[in-house]
Parts: sequence; C-alpha cells; structure tokens
Amino acid sequence: MKNRLSGGVACVMTAIVTVIAFSGCKDPGSLNKKVSIKIDPAMKARTVRILKSDIKKMLKMKFKDASSGEDDVITLNWYKKVFGGDSAVHALKFLDERINYVVPDGISLNDRVRVIQPSLAAVTMASNIGMALWFLQKTYEPKRLLFKLGKAEMPLESSRIGIIKLGEGYLLGRINGIPLNPIVRSGILVHEARHSDCTGGIWKSDIERLKSNQLPENKMCGHLHVMCPEGHTMAGLPACDAQPWGAYSIAGIYYGRVAKKCMNCSEREKQIAQIHALEQFSRVMPIKEMLDGKTAQPDMSSSTRVMAADAVVELKKFRSARKADVKAGEIEIIGIE
Ligand SMILES: [Zn+2]
Repeated sequence: MKNRLSGGVACVMTAIVTVIAFSGCKDPGSLNKKVSIKIDPAMKARTVRILKSDIKKMLKMKFKDASSGEDDVITLNWYKKVFGGDSAVHALKFLDERINYVVPDGISLNDRVRVIQPSLAAVTMASNIGMALWFLQKTYEPKRLLFKLGKAEMPLESSRIGIIKLGEGYLLGRINGIPLNPIVRSGILVHEARHSDCTGGIWKSDIERLKSNQLPENKMCGHLHVMCPEGHTMAGLPACDAQPWGAYSIAGIYYGRVAKKCMNCSEREKQIAQIHALEQFSRVMPIKEMLDGKTAQPDMSSSTRVMAADAVVELKKFRSARKADVKAGEIEIIGIE
C-alpha cells in the first residue's frame, strides 16, 4: 500500500513502519530563546547555525510603519490579516505556532515512527512531515502513532504537531540561480508553517481516500498543492495553489512586506525578497480574484475535527449555492459550523 501526498516539495517516499529501537538519546535543542522551535539532536552544527541565523534575521528586521504612505494591499492589509500584526516578529510568531520541530534531511521514518500496535503501513514524506504523519495517524485510528525526537515520543494529535524536515535545498547556496539568504530561508519556513493548518477540519471521506492510496479531495486541510495548469512554468507538477490563502500566498505576503518595508535590510536583500514574492504569487491560481477582493478573508485557524460525509455534501451544496454572492469579506466559504 502506498499513500501519495503532495507537500511543499513533491517528494514521495514509502516506508514500512515497524518498531525499531532508536539510537541517540540527547534532548532536542532550542533554536532561540524567543521561540519554542526544537532542533533534532541529529542535526549538524552547520545546519543549526544556518537556522539560528534565519530566526535571528526575523527578530532583527524592522518594517516601516503605515505612516510612510507606501502601503499596498499585499504589504499591509494582507500581511496583517495573515500574521495578526505588522512586524517581522508577527511572522515569527506565526512560525512558532506551526513549527515545533525541525529534523534534518535524510532521517529515516522507519527509525522515527513507532506504531503502538505494530503492523505494516506506508508513509509519505513532505517537507512538512508533521502534516503527512497526522494524515497517516487518521488512517490508523484507533491505533496511535508516536514520533520520536531525542528522548521524547510525541503523539500526532493534530496537524499542528509541526514537524518540518529540511530538504537538501535548505543548505544549498542558491535556488534557481538566486542566492539563498536568511530572508529566503525564513520565507521557506513561513510557507511550510502554513501546511500545519487543517483549516475547517479533515473530511471523513478523505481519510478513506488516504487509506486507498488517493490524495485528499479537500485541499484546505494541510493546504495541499494542486497540479499547475497548462502553460504555467511548473505545469504538471503539484506546485500551485487552487485556494487563495495557501502556503504560496502566505510566503508571498511575507516576502512582499520584507521587500517593500524592511528598513534594516540591504537593497539586494529586498530585491531577492521581491523576486521570491513574485515567484510565490505566480503559483497562486486565484491571485486575480484575491487582488480584486473577490475572495473570502484568510482563515488562519486549524482544526482536528473530522467532518462526516453528510457535512461534506452540505458544504459542497453551500459553496456552489453561494458562489455567486461571494465578495470580499461578505461570506466565509471555508467550513460550516
Ligand atoms: Zn508547500
């Protein structure tokens, strides 16, 4: 059995989950006094240094305030709605709520996932492996999965478990020819953090789909990417968002504000942030509707609720009936309570 999930990077891998004794009994390390993000004991010192510099940059960046008169919808209105405030520290707080653990590239899930009632299964890895593992947990219930980090064993109680696996790209010097710096990397974390949100809850039918090797239909839980449309530079790859406030939008908003408003960033840093803002927004299919104010407000919540089949049918009916009325802020189309 093989589950396919699409995450930040379309890396799909299967592994047989078995009980394996794990080595390395050090406690996870702290990244910075100001955040609760923990680093895996297996992380190399160089990677820890890079991550620390990325977080430090977020703590240090200062943005111009609204009185500078240069605000636009992305750099202020959207930024405030998404991050709950206008400073770089607000984006860091957003990260901290959604990322709890950072683990290195190359860790073996075989060694890290323990099934309480052992049996064979498959897992998939994405950059936000916490989200993928929580999906896996939903297919295992009532059995419980535990994720090992140093001495600790964490239950996968929600998508906000927030386990981010660094890909090899995080440590490279450049991405598509553009140099990587702490701003770019912190934006990558902001993007991955959004995948920790299961907005509106998980559909019961999607748990069944996951069990039978299908992708969830509801892309709001985990903010899953979809295939980029024909004509897009990433056509045919699961590297676009069909939803307005997904991971690409959130990272684009972060980069956009840094590019336009950072007072203590270099011109070069701001230019690089701007390139990344445009690049992230180019993957948001409803970007025009967002700019025209035709989409609902961002819902930054996360839920562990399982929505029964009837509720999903109701939601679909509700959405199609209300599609015509949807104007900015008028109707929240995400989820019904
Ligand atoms: Zn992603």
